[in-house]
Amino acid sequence: MFQDKRSKKIVLVAHCILNQNSKIDACAYYPGAILEATKTLLNADVGIIQMPCPELLYLGLDREADPTANCTIESEDTRVAFRMKEEQAKTLCQSLVDCIVYQVEEYIKHGFQIVGLIGINGSPTCGIETTWADDHALDGRGVFIDTLEQSLKNKSIFIKLVGIRAKDPQHAIATIENLLNN
Ligand code: SF4
Repeated sequence: MFQDKRSKKIVLVAHCILNQNSKIDACAYYPGAILEATKTLLNADVGIIQMPCPELLYLGLDREADPTANCTIESEDTRVAFRMKEEQAKTLCQSLVDCIVYQVEEYIKHGFQIVGLIGINGSPTCGIETTWADDHALDGRGVFIDTLEQSLKNKSIFIKLVGIRAKDPQHAIATIENLLNN
């Protein structure tokens, strides 16, 4: 089966890599996709699975921000990080993860290669090498990535996880090229 034009190579990406419109207010760096990262993936002929944006699905596009509050990007990230630890957020993340794990299992079952997953460093939700709490980035996974990694591990599936940041396109290109070539 599947002996057609498809590459049988799959990369999973955080939602906002392809759609910066989903970002928390004041944090979009591009009108649409993170251009350099997306072009690198398109040129590699891999299938791209755009994972859902858990923050948007749990807190809405405005992340339930108080427009009258005197907040900074850092304090908003901290507030969102706190909210994404709520039980309902965890339940949502688990159900989103279950859909992703099912897709990953299907591709693996049929001989496809899961090249890796690209998240967003510094995000409390989709961080890979770094996440966010108490107004600063710190080492560790975001809550969604942590849930996904655990669920994959429970099925003995191990995929490469790499993180990029929209404000550092050269690092993003290098990171993605490294993922694609190793
Ligand atoms: S990092 Fe994750 S939660 Fe944050 S905007 Fe991107 S996809 Fe949504």
